[in-house]
Amino acid sequence: MSRSPRRGSSLPDDCLFCRLYREGDHVAAVEGFVAIRDINPQAGTHLLVIPEHHIESFHHIAEFGADEDKRMLDFIAEVAAREGLSDYRVVVNAGRGAGQTVFHLHWHVLGGGLSGRMT
Ligand code: 5GP
Ligand code: ZN
Repeated sequence: MSRSPRRGSSLPDDCLFCRLYREGDHVAAVEGFVAIRDINPQAGTHLLVIPEHHIESFHHIAEFGADEDKRMLDFIAEVAAREGLSDYRVVVNAGRGAGQTVFHLHWHVLGGGLSGRMT
């Protein structure tokens, strides 16, 4: 029986963010979610919130359970508060055309030194 891998998909075994979920330098963590600092910060504070659950992008968010959605959003708010951010931006790049480069869902949390522009 032949298997046909999904084109362009990143399987958890070779996924950078699956690995960083397991082994990264986490600034915060709760069951199922971690936050790390972006290696190439675009603001004074630039964090990435990464779920353990590997889905390629926000396009597949329906695969998350309702509880998972809620806990992820709560964690994003908690991470921002713990970093002392009062005003900040939460960004998801959904798809290559929107700038997504790592195909494991993640949320950017950006605060401090924001230019006020959306990009
Ligand atoms: P995307 O472009 O997919 O929305 O966001 C991916 C983000 O991951 C980028 O902002 C990029 O700087 C960050 N990134 C890529 N590789 C690494 C890495 O090895 N470690 C960390 N901490 N961030 C990374
Ligand atoms: Zn992954």
